[in-house]
Amino acid sequence: MLRTHTCGELNLKNTGNAVFLCGWIHRSRDLGGMTFTDLRDRYGITQLVFNMETDALLCEKARKLGREFVVRVGGIVTERSSKNPKIPTGEIEIRVTELEILNESRVPPFTIEEHTDGGDDLRMKFRYLDIRRTPVRDALMLRSEMAAATRTCLRSMGFVEVETPVLIKSTPEGARDFVVPSRMNRGEFYALPQSPQTFKQLLMVAGMDKYYQIVKCFRDEDLRADRQPEFTQIDCEMSFVDQDDILHTFEGLVRYLFQEVKGIQIGELPRMSYADAMKNYGNDKPDTRFAMLIRDLSMQVKGRGFKVFEDAEVILAIAVQGAASYTRKQLDELTDWVKRPQIGATGLVYARVQVDGSVKSSVDKFYSPADLAGWAEVCQAGKEDLILVLAGPEKQTRKAMSELRLEMGSRLGLRNKDIFSALWVTDFPLLEWDDETGRWHAMHHPFTSPKPEDTSLLDTDPGNVRANAYDMVINGVEVGGGSVRIHNRNLQQKMFALLGFSETEAVTQFGFLMNAFEYGAPPHGGIAFGFDRICALFGGADSIRDFIAFPKNNSGRDVMIDSPAPLSTDQLKELGIAVPEPGTNASGSSQVI
Ligand code: ASP
Repeated sequence: MLRTHTCGELNLKNTGNAVFLCGWIHRSRDLGGMTFTDLRDRYGITQLVFNMETDALLCEKARKLGREFVVRVGGIVTERSSKNPKIPTGEIEIRVTELEILNESRVPPFTIEEHTDGGDDLRMKFRYLDIRRTPVRDALMLRSEMAAATRTCLRSMGFVEVETPVLIKSTPEGARDFVVPSRMNRGEFYALPQSPQTFKQLLMVAGMDKYYQIVKCFRDEDLRADRQPEFTQIDCEMSFVDQDDILHTFEGLVRYLFQEVKGIQIGELPRMSYADAMKNYGNDKPDTRFAMLIRDLSMQVKGRGFKVFEDAEVILAIAVQGAASYTRKQLDELTDWVKRPQIGATGLVYARVQVDGSVKSSVDKFYSPADLAGWAEVCQAGKEDLILVLAGPEKQTRKAMSELRLEMGSRLGLRNKDIFSALWVTDFPLLEWDDETGRWHAMHHPFTSPKPEDTSLLDTDPGNVRANAYDMVINGVEVGGGSVRIHNRNLQQKMFALLGFSETEAVTQFGFLMNAFEYGAPPHGGIAFGFDRICALFGGADSIRDFIAFPKNNSGRDVMIDSPAPLSTDQLKELGIAVPEPGTNASGSSQVI
């Protein structure tokens, strides 16, 4: 080994030891007679001292070291006169007696510091330098710890890690597939898995009860905020279980992760139906760190001649604690905020509960003091609270109110990243109607079973069939979702028919699964957690980006290796793909020959 210790482990106990350290030059301070240099590796930072009086040559050499040079130093661990209590090595320094430059470095394009001056693009292009920064390195370390804890916990519960293939078959359900041309089977393509869903179900048919995998999944979607085309799931499946068993098992996993990694006890997870989540939070992934429940004011406001409310399908309100002191200017600004296209409300009505308990609203003309007292009662608004009201079409207004609730929660400081509020959302609808395609879509996926008591509605009222499906939500983030599956061929076939598959299509696409169901498929179910997302949540970050070593940018590009990239004509020919005409867009003109 070139080193005896890392840059993160020496302390007063090592005083007097002769040591060798290796690392990168972080920062240097030249104080005339002395040069102090911080040496960094992934374990930490250790201060080096070069003394002009005792070794002028060495000190001269040290002064010439540039940022990010890689060096090996030998020296004696010595107690520091001015200590730094913020770092574990802050009480000592190394009086250097030997200095070897292992490699030089060009001046890095951004500073390798906690807060860098590098913009996103530059950081991604030089990601290997970005990862040298403490926050990114810590994010990756946390991810490693989370993966290890996940494996320990699942193994202790008897789960078996099985790898499933990455080159599979394209299917029309779900998101768009990434495809890979097959050289040996001209004109045919593999697809990369959006998830190992069908394989894990086949493993259950195969008797491999309690499967898990920490697995890469691929979805070719237009990148919405904080999505990556390739991401990682903790994918799990088990047999001979009902929904309750599954929820208990995986609640156990998440409880273990919180305990092991963060030292936090999250207790038992409450359960909330999809219907209640939509009603009270306007959202199927409620942030339950704060209440501020959404209330329906229809009964209180209709019939008083205020046209906006008379014409509205729903009138929804929240009470914002202590916000009655909001100025006119603040309320105007909030009104502009809800009118932004992303929120989509047409206006904002407000009412303040005064210190004396009376209520003053922006629509006092239409409502008597008694009416307004009724609003306050429904919203459970107390003195000095502010009531905010949105009205309009049901779906849009609920969504806008959900956004407004979250915004007010943030403004009031109620969304503290160090507080974790986890729950299960259950009883999702099985299907949702898609106006664009004019057909039903599986809300979770086509393998999800309907609740037995709702199965009879499949023919008559499919929109009202509830599924044995559930999501785990933490702080308003959907961290995982799953379902009890269909394990009966006829029901699966019926499901495909409901989703608009012809019999032939269903057999071509999913015949392998339906056939398997005829060979003793056990009742089974499972879940997949978004691993990147849980890591980001544990790390207190909004973005999953830094919890992935080499992420793609918003256009799905890896700007470091410059991918995707065109293929050479020879490669295309070999794959049996027509070569694009010069000057045409490759995606538009390539075709299989
Ligand atoms: N495969 C599903 C998904 O990726 C999760 C599951 O149902 O287990 O969302």
